[in-house]
Amino acid sequence: MFPLHNRLILMLILPIGDNMKILIVDDDPINLKILSKVVSDLGYDPITVNNGTDALESIKQKECSVVLLDWMMPGMDGIEVCRGIRMLDDENVCYIIINSAREGSDDISRALKAGANDYISKNTDLVELKARIGAGVRTARLERKLIDLNNRLKYLVRIDSLTGLLNHAAILKELSMELDRGRRDATPTSILMLDLDRFKTVNDTYGHQTGDEVLIRFSDLLTQSCRSFDRIGRYGGEEFLIVLPRTEEEECITIGNRIRTQTETLQIVNEINNLRITCSIGCCTTVNSEKHSFSLIAAADSALFRAKKAGRNLVKSCK
Ligand code: GH3
Ligand code: MG
Ligand code: MG
Repeated sequence: MFPLHNRLILMLILPIGDNMKILIVDDDPINLKILSKVVSDLGYDPITVNNGTDALESIKQKECSVVLLDWMMPGMDGIEVCRGIRMLDDENVCYIIINSAREGSDDISRALKAGANDYISKNTDLVELKARIGAGVRTARLERKLIDLNNRLKYLVRIDSLTGLLNHAAILKELSMELDRGRRDATPTSILMLDLDRFKTVNDTYGHQTGDEVLIRFSDLLTQSCRSFDRIGRYGGEEFLIVLPRTEEEECITIGNRIRTQTETLQIVNEINNLRITCSIGCCTTVNSEKHSFSLIAAADSALFRAKKAGRNLVKSCK
């Protein structure tokens, strides 16, 4: 198993999927056959459907990135399919080539205005048809790459690169959202503020790389100890913030103590030693989630301070 930070880097260099599927939509079986051969000759996988409804369904399922679309079909025609595709969400990118017997400028203009990227007359020779499909594939690939990269950036901007947990800004946002939700539902929200004890000594004794490893292992422990709907963030340095939605104070203290005792048993094997760590935890609950995140964190912080003062490796609540 890779350490979390390496896992993150691995995810970033994974290639973007490359098997290009092209959807061919035509009510004429002979056209479907000819176009399928053209697409196969170009090295892409053809998917064929003979009506607009099935075409839209296939695109909704993200089965293809390029569509060769006939205009005149019984039921939903090509223009309606075009409009339908463009009404789907931004993730449903699709390069649309209308392939029609209609050739007038007005027709071409209508198709492009309905959302088509290109327009090819059914009288176009195969050389040009292939070249235009190739251009469509290039554009579709670029667009897909852009969306994938954008999604990765959206993910990375919220994540702490060392531990894989939510970063400072992201955990505060989650807390705010949970408090809003709790206020609406009149349910409590609890938080835990955790701080590793005498962590500076770990760095000073074993070096910063071991210190980093401790932070990663502790983060993994937090992820394993919490429920799927809890939110865990690295608040800063060796401080962590956990948001526990719909959690009463008693349960919050129980969770805090469970994490505290699990931390005591965490074994970090080092060349020099078997190193052990402990953590101090301050917890705070807001009934009906009426408190603002700022005052909730301040209260958990002062509980954490009391846990430190009372000797560390303790859980204190804000009461
Ligand atoms: P206390 O029990 O009072 O919390 O003592 P402490 O030593 O844990 O607290 P202090 O605030 O004195 O030191 C925190 C240390 O955490 C100092 C800093 O170098 C270290 N630290 C912060 N971020 C990182 C990090 O990303 N990696 C490593 N290895 N160390 C870090
Ligand atoms: Mg600290
Ligand atoms: Mg500390």
